[in-house]
Amino acid sequence: MTIDTDCIFCKIVAGELPSDRVYEDDEILAFKDISPQAPFHSVIIPKSHIATLNDIRDDQAQLLGQFFVVARDLAAEHDLPGYRVVINTNSEGGQVVFHVHMHLLGGRQMRGTLG
Ligand code: AMP
Ligand code: ZN
Repeated sequence: MTIDTDCIFCKIVAGELPSDRVYEDDEILAFKDISPQAPFHSVIIPKSHIATLNDIRDDQAQLLGQFFVVARDLAAEHDLPGYRVVINTNSEGGQVVFHVHMHLLGGRQMRGTLG
């Protein structure tokens, strides 16, 4: 398990910062986004520190599959008839927290690619 002591999501994994956890297993944690952009908005992260999607090694690719499985199951659990998943990558892609995460958004009508 890699930990970056300056990373806020690593602090959430360690329990040093509070979070509203909605899913957890040995490798993955999901919690509510502190600034929700939809009625249901959670972030799904690996417990191990990986900065961006670009830093996921080929032998860690199963992690990406698990992100989607967790998103699917959370959507079912929270009765989301439709939802959107997003991974912002690097600052040019809108990434602010450099611990890779998948946003899961639902509970409102999504329009186009961004709305
Ligand atoms: P991104 O722009 O893709 O890097 O998204 C980072 C997300 O992390 C934003 O939606 C923030 O609202 C969210 N966030 C930042 N700090 C916290 C926190 N302490 N707990 C929950 N979500 C957070
Ligand atoms: Zn981290």
